[in-house]
Amino acid sequence: MMNTQSTLEGLSYSAMETALRSAGVNPVHARPLFSAVQRQLLRERVCSAAGILPPVQRWLDSDTVVPMTEMDLVDETPSADGFTRKYLLRLAGGAEVESVQMGFPGRFTACLSSQVGCAMGCVFCATGQMGFSRNLTAGEIVAQAHHVERELRRTNPGERLRNIVMMGMGEPLHNFEPTMEALGILTDNRGLNIGPARVAISTVGYIPGIQKLARHPKRYSLAVSLHGASDEERGKLIPINKRWPLADLMDSCREYSALKRARVFFAWTLIRGVNDSDDHARRLAELLKGMDAHVNLIPLNATEGFDGQAPEEMRVRAFQQIIQDAGLPSTVRQRRGIDVNAGCGQLKAKRVKFSR
Ligand code: SAH
Ligand code: SF4
Repeated sequence: MMNTQSTLEGLSYSAMETALRSAGVNPVHARPLFSAVQRQLLRERVCSAAGILPPVQRWLDSDTVVPMTEMDLVDETPSADGFTRKYLLRLAGGAEVESVQMGFPGRFTACLSSQVGCAMGCVFCATGQMGFSRNLTAGEIVAQAHHVERELRRTNPGERLRNIVMMGMGEPLHNFEPTMEALGILTDNRGLNIGPARVAISTVGYIPGIQKLARHPKRYSLAVSLHGASDEERGKLIPINKRWPLADLMDSCREYSALKRARVFFAWTLIRGVNDSDDHARRLAELLKGMDAHVNLIPLNATEGFDGQAPEEMRVRAFQQIIQDAGLPSTVRQRRGIDVNAGCGQLKAKRVKFSR
């Protein structure tokens, strides 16, 4: 019989209590078990962790428990600057997703995938070019963070994961419940205890998801991918803009900001000759006027399926100067790891191409 239960690391604290209770085990055992699963990260170590008593051992060995996700590392690529490490992980069933470790001691970040492929079809994005295969489960999202955490402990003893960005493959708000379940587990102080403010959820502008996120009890950072300041221009890059146009998107961002009392981050992927002119910068500043906003400017990572280039460095600076003069704070995100195809979906795209 197929087991439809979640894998062990995909169980929230309360789901673990429920699972134990329904197996006839006292739910007080959820506390040491949850911590062991989320902090020991390996099945062998979970079973031998302090506080894991015989009834729990027996439950762990029973076939009602789906063991922790086994993910094969298919490909690993460090960048020349040493700040980025990209992993291509194979899930049960053969699907592959990318996770990226970024940063430096004290500030390590994991960039996680939420779906295999993506249904949103943004023309410049390697994941969008692949189409949609399936949603990831909460366990598969947590397992990616565990992979990065294990690698960090191995390569940087004493260090741990501090930040999570949902900026890998897929649209996290289009896989809302599993993503929220996974982030709930990763921010649980009985587990890896990552601060909710250190979790960023990046969305292409999936309005129903933004509205739900604004009402979610935890206060994660919201990052919205804009790339265009008019429906016409944005729609050429992001097809779903036709369904969820800019004015409605800005309304949902303002609502998020008001309900959460939080700054909203906006991503603007700069594409030479497409959205990088002085006029675009002025219109972006106009669009975000009066909002508590921060813009991340990301020069395009060229992909094979899109005929576009990054602007020159000077153009990026000029663009940034204009929005700065308009009072809009911004950061130019360095294309760290461009040498390892660290753009969204690019490692997998490259491999798919080579394997044919
Ligand atoms: N689906 C979500 C999160 C994943 S993509 C979203 O779109 O926001 C994370 C960011 O990478 C998005 O801002 C996206 O627009 C950007 N991105 C995708 N492909 C890119 C490329 N080739 N070069 C630069 N940025 C890219
Ligand atoms: Fe999907 Fe984001 Fe890529 Fe668009 S940019 S196709 S939403 S992953």
